[in-house]
Amino acid sequence: MSLFVRKESPPRLDHHQDYRPFLRRDFCCRCAYCERTEAFLGGEESFEIDHFKPVHTFESAGQATYYENLYYSCAKCNRYKGGVWPSPRMVAQGLRFADPCREDMYQEHIRETPDGTLNVLTSCGRYTCQHIRLDRPSLMAWRRMKLEKAEERRQLEQLKSMLELELSNPEQMRPNVAALNAVISDIKRRFAI
Ligand SMILES: [Zn+2]
Repeated sequence: MSLFVRKESPPRLDHHQDYRPFLRRDFCCRCAYCERTEAFLGGEESFEIDHFKPVHTFESAGQATYYENLYYSCAKCNRYKGGVWPSPRMVAQGLRFADPCREDMYQEHIRETPDGTLNVLTSCGRYTCQHIRLDRPSLMAWRRMKLEKAEERRQLEQLKSMLELELSNPEQMRPNVAALNAVISDIKRRFAI
């Protein structure tokens, strides 16, 4: 199942930029391609609206505001993807962009590895990775950090649950506080904060 599922039903609007509030909600304030968040990238200003099927392939001007073809994208992914679009012959060979609204691209076509690199599984994954440059260093760093933070969050959630359960018994809290301190020290050490 795809990560992004459209729930909004906007009215027909004049310009593709007018759909931005709807797209922000449908894409949960994340880039459709690299999946980075507005919170991580410093806000909405870092995001643009991508025509999944590029404008130069349109047969009529009306297609420019077709909501289903508009994708919320960080500026970098949008710029790299640009006007690239495969020919019918390439599509027949599986060389096409993975569609983050129709398939789980990070499962079906590409897999993240613990060191932040990507394993490409299909021709579609290769084409997508190559043209959006999903293997660029900033995205490798994002994926590594995401994995680290997921593990830290798991540990913190575990500690929180234990502390909540044991609030009535202060003696049993000592090892949990020690474990919490260990996690905090590790964050301080690795990020120099
Ligand atoms: Zn992106």
